[in-house]
Amino acid sequence: MKILVPVKRVVDYNVKVRVKADQSGVELANIKMSMNPFDEISVEEAIKLKEAGVATEIIAVSIGVTQCQETLRTALAMGADRAILVETSAEIQPLAVAKLLKAICEKESPQMVILGKQAIDDDSNQTGQMLAALLNWPQATFASKVTVTAGVAEVMREIDGGMETVEIKLPAIITTDLRLNTPRYATLPNIMKAKKKPMDVMTPEALGVDVTPRLKTLKVVEPPKRKGGVMVADVAALVDKLKNEAKVI
Ligand code: AMP
Repeated sequence: MKILVPVKRVVDYNVKVRVKADQSGVELANIKMSMNPFDEISVEEAIKLKEAGVATEIIAVSIGVTQCQETLRTALAMGADRAILVETSAEIQPLAVAKLLKAICEKESPQMVILGKQAIDDDSNQTGQMLAALLNWPQATFASKVTVTAGVAEVMREIDGGMETVEIKLPAIITTDLRLNTPRYATLPNIMKAKKKPMDVMTPEALGVDVTPRLKTLKVVEPPKRKGGVMVADVAALVDKLKNEAKVI
């Protein structure tokens, strides 16, 4: 069974993002970029399924600029078998990503695509759901446990106030939540080995996908600065402020 794992290159989660002066987006020049944390969880889950004898091949896919090769090499160093880069410097929105992934699924025929539940840069939480709709495959989102037996995946998902377990027939789409696993670090020998693993490079045009954006970003602004707090003398003063100044009670 082949598993496809889409991995996105995003601003590292430790970096404090800065908005560009013209408010057209966030600053990416000279910023540390890394694999989207949810995608590390997807790679780890695919590797676990391979170690358990369920999967036979893991293909990591990234869509974006040439430097996405680094993200793919990280996936290969963790344990993916080969990689595909869909190279483009255009702005690629979730629907375009889903269409490109659909084209790759049609070429590769994976039994499972494991995506992150969301990319931490755009926080869209759309690609997995759109891909499932385009392929007409079942989907289980926000997975916190995955068990695969005889063409079926049992997925435990986090929902408001508890856990839900669903069963989906393969081929299927799964998106990963934080509690699914703890991704492994790539060891130095595996980083060296990853350099020799195969990586195909293709373009959206070669896949026959029109990636023209459907949405236009009007402006991006920083969140308002937090105002300083005040100390109150006692509970009565606190209640008085909540009632008369904040007017929340
Ligand atoms: P989003 O819908 O943008 O929040 O992204 C959800 C998931 O889709 C990510 O965690 C990735 O698994 C995948 N994805 C989104 N954009 C890309 C991309 N440019 N390249 C590879 N995978 C992507």
